[in-house]
Amino acid sequence: MDATNPPPAAPPHAAGDALATALQQYWGYDAFRPLQREAMEAVMAGRESVVVLPTGGGKSLCFQAPAVCSPGTAVVVSPLISLMKDQVDALRECGIAAAAINSTISAEDRRETAQRLRAGEIKLLYAAPERLLLDGTLSFLTQIEVSFIAIDEAHCISSWGHDFRPEYRGLKLLRKVLPGVAMHAYTATATERVRGDIATQLGLTAPEFLVGSFDRPNLGYRVQRANNKLGQIREAVARHAGESGIVYCISRKEVERTAAALAELGVKAAPYHAGLSDVERQRNQDAFISERVDVIVATVAFGMGIDKSNVRYVVHAGMPKSIENYQQESGRAGRDGLEAECLLLYSAGDASTWRRMTDMSDPQGAAAALKSIDAMAAFASSVTCRHRALVEHFGQAFPKDNCGACDVCDGDLELVDEPLILAQKIVSCVARLEQRFGGDYTAKVLAGSSEQRILDQGHDSLSTYGLLKGDRPAGIRDWIEQLVGQGFLRKAGEYNTLEITESGLRLLKGDAEPRLLKPATKQHDAKPRSASAADSWEGVDRELFEVLRALRAELAAEHAVPAYIVFSDAALRDMARRRPSTLDGFAEVRGVGQKKLAEYGEAFVEAVVGYCEANAIGLDAVTDASPGRHPGEGAGRSTPGAYAPDAGGGPNASALAAFKFFREGQSIEETASAMGRARSTVVGYLNQYLRQEQVGDPAPWVDASTARRVEDAIDEVGLKGLKPIYEQLGGEVDYDAIRVVATCVANRP
Ligand code: ADP
Ligand code: ZN
Repeated sequence: MDATNPPPAAPPHAAGDALATALQQYWGYDAFRPLQREAMEAVMAGRESVVVLPTGGGKSLCFQAPAVCSPGTAVVVSPLISLMKDQVDALRECGIAAAAINSTISAEDRRETAQRLRAGEIKLLYAAPERLLLDGTLSFLTQIEVSFIAIDEAHCISSWGHDFRPEYRGLKLLRKVLPGVAMHAYTATATERVRGDIATQLGLTAPEFLVGSFDRPNLGYRVQRANNKLGQIREAVARHAGESGIVYCISRKEVERTAAALAELGVKAAPYHAGLSDVERQRNQDAFISERVDVIVATVAFGMGIDKSNVRYVVHAGMPKSIENYQQESGRAGRDGLEAECLLLYSAGDASTWRRMTDMSDPQGAAAALKSIDAMAAFASSVTCRHRALVEHFGQAFPKDNCGACDVCDGDLELVDEPLILAQKIVSCVARLEQRFGGDYTAKVLAGSSEQRILDQGHDSLSTYGLLKGDRPAGIRDWIEQLVGQGFLRKAGEYNTLEITESGLRLLKGDAEPRLLKPATKQHDAKPRSASAADSWEGVDRELFEVLRALRAELAAEHAVPAYIVFSDAALRDMARRRPSTLDGFAEVRGVGQKKLAEYGEAFVEAVVGYCEANAIGLDAVTDASPGRHPGEGAGRSTPGAYAPDAGGGPNASALAAFKFFREGQSIEETASAMGRARSTVVGYLNQYLRQEQVGDPAPWVDASTARRVEDAIDEVGLKGLKPIYEQLGGEVDYDAIRVVATCVANRP
């Protein structure tokens, strides 16, 4: 980690303790993530700050926890209504009074909010800058106690940033209107220039700069040449069946095509691009957030305003136009700190597409844009660790030799055996062509093409002509890109003519070692191993995780909030690892604060108990630290969840109530709706009932033909577990039905 100001050695003083308590009480977190404590303490001390953490680094908590611990109301500036709504919903779910003022709030709600603000009841107030800077709002703010001002997505204030919003410039006015109220800026932006600009534009006083590491160790990066784009996308989506993912395409047309192709395969996918109506865009985005669709296929127009924490993969169907864009877009995966896949598919043509789309009317801007495109192309074709390349691009050092979470470090790439000789042939051909030709032409000369223009130039008589006769020009072209990416060649001038760099000259002398990929990389079907993947699933019962996920979806719909706001994937995994049988045990789950314990504890504990009893899995597994912890988050020693003996215990009151319905032959759905319980909870009760009453006939709960199929499958594979049965049935029968039938079969004498 690289903090511009060394972080103070965290003393156990009063503010710190209050913060830690709030973290536990409201959010159910037992440790700070890197720099969170320092950022929070800056707020508590009234010292202005600029906090830079990568996406998923936990910026929101940096101002939310201090807001909870301070008297008065913190004003949070946020650029988008959807972001505000998300954060306000999430805070309320944690039991924190928060409100937003924007155009979607009714006059009545606004009056109520004003009243509660006057009464000092609201801890965080969210507003967009244009709303905040209205005279009415400003004069209102002078009448209430404002604890501090937090500016989220603060890079919007800088014209150097990627999301410049002129309205942000007006925020300086708050200094005059609310003198003495400290301002704090938060962003994920990595460039130093933007950071400095933020402090200047806001007129911050001696701000503390807290800059976290830009590495995202939970993201597994892979870069592949797009040789069968749709097939590669399909494979990625299939690897993550049922999980949330984003597929970025360069053009609207490609978005439409890809979304349609995925939908045809039965994938729940929706398109998103600027050509759709506002209503359609909003509808598709909502469907993604509430998990009615799994995959959103989008142009870069999609993303800002998406706080969804459980995006498990991001595919780029084409190369983005800069590394900054790539980091932003791929960074939307895995905000919850759990492993996620980032797959980049690129073709040599992508860079030319972006070059064509570059606005040349502003020479300075165009030069910068072209440089960014080249840097991105170099990243895509390079064969150095992806984590290292990204982090170093943003000016930080990368300490590890092997990241354990990219295609390069995982050894997924097939490299040519004698790269130096191959590279020397290519570079000397560039020399023979007097550094006056581009990549395509050079590749053809090396391949020994008898194209007319080559013959016209007399290049068929060069010593390097046909030196790589057995290789396809497209493959040679790729090697050239790789050599450019590794800095042995560079592209110059309007026509991208190839030139030899200093290190290229060293290479010719045999003093440098390039890495070159074999032409056709084999297709990999496995997910890239991410360092955290094995850890974060350690001890987790996956079937139980799925049961809990379904319950989460039901409860989220009931509460009209996105699923990830009810519980993050990380919290669900921790539940499926600990398998708590009591509310006390449930409170130990990471991500369960007091409000969520009260609100959801019972439903989840019942689901856990129902599932574990039905499957004879031990409850209350002992884990004294959660594996899969965010890097640097406390000193978590990871201990695999050990199975405790079955806690036993009789059915609780709700279960007994359900038994009555079952005895009357009511179906799962009827019982669920009569009791107002989640389906998965009722399935849990049903299994308890079947075992207690030793029921042998699944008839009222599973239809006869399905029951037959499951029984046949059990005959084939036995009763060792549900998964083999599920697989025997080709995944066509859901686990609930299999479980019911299996329990009945087991009950038969
Ligand atoms: P950012 O705004 O920096 O992208 P968020 O504030 O959205 O990140 O946090 C990302 C995720 O990490 C959220 O699900 C959040 O609840 C979780 N999180 C934040 N701080 C902690 C912590 N100290 N321990 C565990 N999880 C955390
Ligand atoms: Zn790596």
